[in-house]
Amino acid sequence: MNLHNAQFIKSAAASRELIGDGLPQIVFSGKSNVGKSSVINKTLGRKNFARVSNTPGKTVHVNYFLIDELAYFVDLPGYGYAKVPKTEKNRWAVLMESFFSKSQHITLGVMIVDARHKPTDDDVTMANWFQATLCPLVVLANKIDKVKKSELDGNLSVIRETLNLRSDIDVIPFSAEKGINKEALLEKIFAAVEESTADSDSEASCR
Ligand code: GDP
Repeated sequence: MNLHNAQFIKSAAASRELIGDGLPQIVFSGKSNVGKSSVINKTLGRKNFARVSNTPGKTVHVNYFLIDELAYFVDLPGYGYAKVPKTEKNRWAVLMESFFSKSQHITLGVMIVDARHKPTDDDVTMANWFQATLCPLVVLANKIDKVKKSELDGNLSVIRETLNLRSDIDVIPFSAEKGINKEALLEKIFAAVEESTADSDSEASCR
């Protein structure tokens, strides 16, 4: 799968606009400003492909990018931004509920949290939604370039414990800015897409 061959497909603002065409979906999620766009851009080797936002939480959309005609990168709307109006928060909740109810399309969840802080209640809710699907999930602890080496292991344990992660779910220390552990993420993505393509005749194994 050639990650450089990526095209924006659409922004879905309502449940009926979500894509469920059977292609594998790599689903990125994280609170506003955690670096989700930066992670997607770094993974694709592009500079400004997924927008790096200055106004977090402004729009509630699920963005789809088609990668080499083989899989989607799905950019879920960021959450947890205090200044978002209540109506937008409600729209977010409704959209997320329909997204996760169609979770047979989640080939791999990539949940991004801030390596510097204990995960928020919203992060815990998101981790619960992902884990309830039983779909493969990886957690990126982003911005480790801002964490002291001596504090990193402790922070990673707090993240694992607070999110109450299953033992098969890895927490990868990550830096979208420096590209640290990009290869580890790519391996997860390639393995998940390969496995789901090999399994495409069988029933989806997660939901
Ligand atoms: P999003 O709202 O989650 O999509 O976050 P963005 O990708 O727009 O990033 C939010 C801010 O965090 C921007 O100023 C980025 O430059 C910065 N950022 C993202 N990843 C990293 C990282 O790994 N390290 C550091 N130090 N800053 C980062």
